[in-house]
Amino acid sequence: DYVIDYQNAGFDDTIAQQIAQNFSANNVALMCGIATNSATACYAAAEDKNIPVIFTAITDPVKAKLDSGNITGTSDKLPIEEQLKLIRALQPDAKTIGILYTTSEPNSVSAVEEYQAKAPEYGFTIEAIGVMQQSEVLQAADTMISKGVDVLCVNMVDAKAASGVVEKASAAGIPTIFFNREPDTEVIKSYDKACFIGTNAIDAGKMQGDIIKELWDAHPEYDLNGDGKVQYVMFQGEPDNPEAIARTQYSVEQATANGLTMEQVGETQVCNWDTETAQKAMEAMLAANEGKIELVIANNDGMAIGCVAALSNIGYNTGAEGASFIPVIGVDATDAAKDAIAKGQMSATVLQDGDAMGKAIAAAALNAASGAEFLDGTEYTYDDTGIAVRIPYAPYTGE
Ligand code: CA
Repeated sequence: DYVIDYQNAGFDDTIAQQIAQNFSANNVALMCGIATNSATACYAAAEDKNIPVIFTAITDPVKAKLDSGNITGTSDKLPIEEQLKLIRALQPDAKTIGILYTTSEPNSVSAVEEYQAKAPEYGFTIEAIGVMQQSEVLQAADTMISKGVDVLCVNMVDAKAASGVVEKASAAGIPTIFFNREPDTEVIKSYDKACFIGTNAIDAGKMQGDIIKELWDAHPEYDLNGDGKVQYVMFQGEPDNPEAIARTQYSVEQATANGLTMEQVGETQVCNWDTETAQKAMEAMLAANEGKIELVIANNDGMAIGCVAALSNIGYNTGAEGASFIPVIGVDATDAAKDAIAKGQMSATVLQDGDAMGKAIAAAALNAASGAEFLDGTEYTYDDTGIAVRIPYAPYTGE
């Protein structure tokens, strides 16, 4: 019998320290820190009261100085040796592996050190380039190009900076695969050896619309007022973000196309993808409209989790047998959302299939490295832009 106080520090050291100190001031029984900066903050705040700390998602706890005192946890060390074997099997003639890493992240630093230590056993040398911010990624790309890499695979921190990468890569004639964050289509089209592998923002919204239809067919009791319409509230990521706008629009359009009548309660709540902001907004929505809300649609799981917290604070969605329940749907399939779905506090989320994206990138990169077209002999096709491969989303309902 315990209560979890979940706080997100957004990888900000100062916020992590404030949260940990609040935990300590509240005399919590145990602190869990996910990733190095949160765990370090918990450890520092817990020390004088000897509150036990559990960490997770840390590659090298000894290097992060989390190896003494009332602390334990799990490491998410990369299978580096297996990766080296795999690269050798795929590329029998390869000599050099380029690695871009973040110098401020101890996990990245220790992973690179291990690559460097093990690479000679497999006949590789490692070209490691540390970066601290977006502007340095461009310089790093320059360095990679000058060292003669065969293909560039780039996930832009800021997609608007892609034209700089294209300029450098095209001058050197190096094929370039952008993935995940999507640069402007015209920028990719400007270089005949560039492509994009990612998802389609519209599809995540449509997937939510399909999930809503399935939920409504399976659960007539969700229509609380029995008027045959779906009274929903909408939580949007950012006001101007194309991905957020698409999810907001197409979730409702798709549910409507599926034959449901959608009726929005209140204004769209713009909560910048943030859990706490969404929780506060949902609390206000519930105070004004309790009993009138039949569905919560959120652009991401972060905000969906905030809504679940607001609901469970007033006795809804607690996961307990017989508790009132309002369906909540997010996007991303984060661990927190999967956990809430498993506990019966949330209905569904939409999964971006990272493994499928990784396979597509690897297939296209191997082709490009051997001088072939990106998609030659693969199962992938371009969409109507002619330069983008879209990896489909999948619904996640915990089943
Ligand atoms: Ca209704």
